[in-house]
Amino acid sequence: MPMELKNIYKIYPNGYQAITDFNLTIEDKEFIVLVGPSGCGKSTTLRMIAGLEDITHGTFTIDGRVVNKLPPKDRGIAMVFQSYALYPTLTVYENMAFGLDLAGFDEDVIAARVQSTAKILGLSEYLDRLPRALSGGQRQRVALGRAIIRHAKIFLMDEPLSNLDARQRVTMRAELSRISREIGATTIYVTHDQIEAMTMASRIVCMDVGVIKQVGTPEELYFHPKNLFVAGFIGDPPMNFIRGKVDSGVFASDDGYYSVALPQPSLQGKGIVIGYRPEHAHLALPEGSDPADYLEMKGKIEVYEMLGDLQNVYLAVGEEKAIIKVAPEVELEIGNDLIYYVKKADFHFFDAETEEAIEE
Ligand code: ADP
Repeated sequence: MPMELKNIYKIYPNGYQAITDFNLTIEDKEFIVLVGPSGCGKSTTLRMIAGLEDITHGTFTIDGRVVNKLPPKDRGIAMVFQSYALYPTLTVYENMAFGLDLAGFDEDVIAARVQSTAKILGLSEYLDRLPRALSGGQRQRVALGRAIIRHAKIFLMDEPLSNLDARQRVTMRAELSRISREIGATTIYVTHDQIEAMTMASRIVCMDVGVIKQVGTPEELYFHPKNLFVAGFIGDPPMNFIRGKVDSGVFASDDGYYSVALPQPSLQGKGIVIGYRPEHAHLALPEGSDPADYLEMKGKIEVYEMLGDLQNVYLAVGEEKAIIKVAPEVELEIGNDLIYYVKKADFHFFDAETEEAIEE
């Protein structure tokens, strides 16, 4: 079901403005992920969509119809929360059937829906079990089943995976994307975890203190962050930054450690921030490359983490910190210097004052 949020504001009764001019058009069947640090207004936005919280200003439409004042139960929305609160004395079947039972559906309609929902969720073999005999991931799927079984066209999910362990979370991420596609629902999913956002979203809405910082596909936010906030939030480990100024075609970092030729007209005479991702650091210049295309940097190794497929190296570079990814076979020693090269073409540039990306 398509939805539109237009110039939405939320001011809580105590006067706190939690959401400022939120604008978003959601297409039918999209999987939208609201992501941002704790307290940025994700849950507030979700709760306004659900109808659990008043919209202070602005217009919210579902399928072209203004629903600002529509009670939650009439919005055709199903919600899945972090705590999935199953009835402990009811079986999986009974837990899923509960809502339809209350709504007075016939036994055979309920049975058919429980069976088909259980099939989508991979729960067919567990229908007779009690929740305590299920894993965390299976319980979360039952909770999801209770929402799906109502055939809602819109799903709202607030950190639904945060009670699962790391492995179950990875499995459920993929499952949730598949299930949402299979039932053809429009989903709005809230998380503070940028990896969930990157892996599940058709579009990400990245927020900070009540405002949208960027909306786009995971690729758009990763490869073309519009501002320093998004650049630093999306990506793990995060993007590295060097602050400085460009004059007459040369960038000099504020701490005096680096100067590098940057002739681009759009950068001249400005305080800028250079950003580069951890995976763009090379320990040697690629064969046949022109050294002038690279910035050579030197950092002191503070910590390193072996992850198996790569190592994250935490460096003190001049007066800034940096994290780079290097191959697992590289031998590292804490306290030693590490020289690395970053291609200028891999740099992101931001205006130091406005924090907006600079288009070259
Ligand atoms: P998130 O989900 O991104 O962690 P929330 O939407 O829960 O953020 O909260 C956004 C901001 O609004 C926070 O600063 C929070 O303290 C504030 N807030 C949330 N609920 C209320 C309330 N009922 N009254 C006043 N302020 C609130």
